[in-house]
Amino acid sequence: MTTLPTLPMLQPRRGKPPRHFTDLDPAERADAVKQLGQPAFRAKQLATHYYDHLTVDAGDMTDLPAAARESLVGELFPPLLTKVTQLTADDGATVKTLWNLIDHAKVESVLMKYPDRATLCVTSQAGCGMACPFCATGQMGLTRNLSAGEIIEQVRLAARQARDGELGGDPVRLSNVVFMGMGEPLANYAAVITAVRALTSPPPEGFGLSARHVTVSTVGLVTGIDRLASEGIPVTLALSLHAPDDELRDELVPINARWKVDEALDAARRYFDATGRRVSIEYALIRDMNDHAHRAELLAKKLNARGDGWVHVNPIPLNPTPGSKWTASDPKVEQEFVRILRMHGIPTTIRDTRGSDIDGACGQLAIKER
Ligand code: SAH
Repeated sequence: MTTLPTLPMLQPRRGKPPRHFTDLDPAERADAVKQLGQPAFRAKQLATHYYDHLTVDAGDMTDLPAAARESLVGELFPPLLTKVTQLTADDGATVKTLWNLIDHAKVESVLMKYPDRATLCVTSQAGCGMACPFCATGQMGLTRNLSAGEIIEQVRLAARQARDGELGGDPVRLSNVVFMGMGEPLANYAAVITAVRALTSPPPEGFGLSARHVTVSTVGLVTGIDRLASEGIPVTLALSLHAPDDELRDELVPINARWKVDEALDAARRYFDATGRRVSIEYALIRDMNDHAHRAELLAKKLNARGDGWVHVNPIPLNPTPGSKWTASDPKVEQEFVRILRMHGIPTTIRDTRGSDIDGACGQLAIKER
């Protein structure tokens, strides 16, 4: 009897991405370096190359012995992301990149230059399990969690691109990272918190971003919010509320079946108490769906009931997604929604929607070839 050989090229490669330097804590890095026959202090040199010089090219690492460079890099910096395509908008100030992962899962990240900052929107999961009906990624279902290394590599590659003047001309320093790409970050907690540490630790242990310039956006996983509050890293929390009442939120954000509006808002308030960081409430304005004056009133009431100065609201005009019947609110209705919130003392800023013409705006990230 013969057994057919399996053809690896035809199989999607399953399982975990390979171990990467950025997945490891300092003690594990020192161990890994020692196992490769090098003194532990090489781990710090490698960290400097990675987080400070933004390189994984052995040729750049001239402070390492030539004979050891290739094996250190080969073992500790396996390629995790391969660029598939890149689309630009806004005269080069917005760049969306499609990445291929080791198992051929595809993810996207979006880099945006503003006069005062450069922001990267990162992906934390391939697909998403939260199934919000107005979000393109939500329609894909969840393929898998990204590893910390896969998230951190999105940041290194974007920081390099910005530094090298590939974001509309002059060199730019990546200053902000938002977990608003594909996926629910708090459903991939371990990898996301490792990435948050790498973002906010000073070089050479991290990229040295200010915690306030890192935003973790969530559908409202209450246990995850409380855990994040206890980490001692005051990143900005964004809560995707989209409706102030359970009846409508049950439909727009299905996890509301598990944690109700009031529970999510209580967790957001606890986050403010623990970190001192003002929480953002995200509210995609969907025409005739959630944009009514009475909902603006109810939202203001629920936020004010939990105190002053702890929150602000970011309405986002809905970015249409393929096949959806929903569209953005009428600008007049949007203005009225904002006016009501402000009248009740709630700081409110409409979020700009960069990159909608390249399907790179909030909620539009989905892989076309699927
Ligand atoms: N899962 C996380 C982060 C991903 S999306 C979360 O839900 O917060 C980042 C933001 O974009 C969220 O506030 C999300 O609700 C919003 N969003 C999703 N689809 C959108 C769309 N079609 N138009 C505008 N915003 C959208």
